Amino acid sequence: MSLLSFLPHRISQRLTALYFTVSSFSLQRRPQTTQTSTMVGMTVTKIPALKDNFMYLIVCNTTRAAAVVDPVAPERVLEVVQEQNCKLNQLLTTHHHWDHAGGNEALSDRFRQNPDWGELRVYGGQDERIARLTHPVKQDDTFGIGNLRVRCLSTPCHTTSHICYYVESETERAVFTGDTLFLAGCGRFFEGTPVQMYDALIGKLSQLPDDTQVYCGHEYALQNLRFGHTIEPNNEDIRVMLERAQAADLEGRRALVPSTIGLEKRINVFMRVQHPDMRAKFDTSEPIEIMGLLRAAKDKF
Ligand SMILES: [Zn+2]
Repeated sequence: MSLLSFLPHRISQRLTALYFTVSSFSLQRRPQTTQTSTMVGMTVTKIPALKDNFMYLIVCNTTRAAAVVDPVAPERVLEVVQEQNCKLNQLLTTHHHWDHAGGNEALSDRFRQNPDWGELRVYGGQDERIARLTHPVKQDDTFGIGNLRVRCLSTPCHTTSHICYYVESETERAVFTGDTLFLAGCGRFFEGTPVQMYDALIGKLSQLPDDTQVYCGHEYALQNLRFGHTIEPNNEDIRVMLERAQAADLEGRRALVPSTIGLEKRINVFMRVQHPDMRAKFDTSEPIEIMGLLRAAKDKF
C-alpha cells in the first residue's frame, strides 16, 4: 500500500499534483522531449534526435494513418507511434545526409521483420544515396497520408535531390523543409547555387499561404537571428524573435519550431532578398546576388 493512501484525501491530492508539476518540469528540460501540435485535421509531433535534429510524425486525425519525416532514430519513432495509436506506413526523406536518411534502412528492416505492420513506402528525391527509396518523387508529385494531401517541392541546393513536403488537411497547412529552410535561416549550398536557393525560398516556399506552419530539420534559430540582426539591425520583427530565442535557449528548450511562412518573410533575411532594405544594404537590385552574398557572410559568421 502506498504512503498516499494513509494521508487525508486533500493532502494526497496536493502531493500528487506537486509530483506531476515537478515531473513535467523536468521533462521540459530534457532535450529529448516531444512536442505535439494537435490541429483539426492533422497532428504533428516534433521528436528531437541526435544533437539538434528534428524528426516529425504526421498523423491524419480521421484515419490515424501516419508518416514520419527523416527518422534517423527509428526506435524512438516507433515508441511515439505506439503512444499515439496510429498506423505508420510512410517515410518521407528530405535529403540523403546521414542525420536525415540514416534511419531508412533500420526502419525498413523493422517492417520486414514485422509483416503484419504492412509495407513501408519510402519517399524522397531520386538519388542512389538515399537508402531503401521505393517511391522517388519530383516537383508537384502528390500523394496522401490518410485524408491529408501531400505535394512535393523540389528544392535542390543544399543537396541535388532535396525535397520539401507540403501537407494540407481541410483546415491546416504545414511544410517540412529539411535543410532547405530553417527558422530564420537556410541550409548551406553544398551541392547548388544561389539561383537554386532563390528558386526554393522565393519561387516555391514563399508562394505557400502565410499561415503554413514550417517544420525544419534543425533548430538554429538563435544563431540565425543573431546573424539576421547584424544584417537588418532596424528590423523590429527580428529583434523581438531574437529576444524570444535567447529566452528559450536559456530555459534549455528548443521551443521556437514550428515557424510559419508569413513569419519567415518578416524575420528570415534569406527570404527577404527582394526587400528594398536588403537591396540598399547590399547596394544591388539583384536578389540572387544578395542570396549569394548572404550565404557567404553567414558561412563566416
Ligand atoms: Zn543536410
